[in-house]
Amino acid sequence: MNANPICSWCHRHAETPLHVLFTCSFAQELWDRVGMQEVLGVEDTTTVLQVFQQMFNSSSRSKKVMLGLFCWSLWWRRNSWVWDRKIVSAFGVQSMALGLLQEWQSSQEELGGGGRNRASSANRQWCKPPEGWIKVNIDAACHAQQGYIGIGSVARDENGQFLRASGRRIQGRWKPREAEALGLKEALLWVREWRTSKCVFEMDAKTVVDAIYGDGGNSYFHTIIEDCVDILHHFHEVVVVFERRSANKVAHVLAQTAYSMTDHMEWIDIAPDFICNLLSDDV
Ligand SMILES: [Zn+2]
Repeated sequence: MNANPICSWCHRHAETPLHVLFTCSFAQELWDRVGMQEVLGVEDTTTVLQVFQQMFNSSSRSKKVMLGLFCWSLWWRRNSWVWDRKIVSAFGVQSMALGLLQEWQSSQEELGGGGRNRASSANRQWCKPPEGWIKVNIDAACHAQQGYIGIGSVARDENGQFLRASGRRIQGRWKPREAEALGLKEALLWVREWRTSKCVFEMDAKTVVDAIYGDGGNSYFHTIIEDCVDILHHFHEVVVVFERRSANKVAHVLAQTAYSMTDHMEWIDIAPDFICNLLSDDV
């Protein structure tokens, strides 16, 4: 194959493994974004193997996992550029890597969880976010012809401990995908106030999650998605992931309850009775 040896992103250096994964501006942008200072200053004279050896001898488990995931995602990002001329933002790469981590963790829990969890992926359970992160589950409830929707969100920490929950009713005749997108937007605004730095937002509306990382469009739904993307940029490390309904039970019940509320309700530190059993079921 007659391949060009020069980096197709910066056009300035040879496309070596070290360049692709660490020294190219393409990679540096991501390492900077995710705060991996250790790999930002990698020298041209070193090798990929040496970088990995150094990181594996000195870093925490979560950093090692991130190193592997981000390297894989950088390789994928470069292929998207080389073959499809598709630019994926550093934010997109970060989100994709964290999405993979989530998927891997829940599959591990399924494998290790014995009879109840093993059954099938259709019966997936909620799983904890990575170390140092919080996870917010979101759901919306809408019934045709009613003049409002219900939105529920619940935040839990890395151990699955309850942090906060919120239920809100919003006026308007929304279609289901708009209702789900509004649910995400409300949750983002809610969590942004806490100034938390690492957050996974999880929902069972695949259309919304795909739209967040997609190309956009000109419907009202896409306007809500654009608002969500704007708010997402206020977070230091953030990811929006899709998970099946069985893992989103608490948010589902909150949304159903919010549907019949007149006021916005928020619970801090102590969970409302109607979700207590579900919470302990999950962890
Ligand atoms: Zn380059």
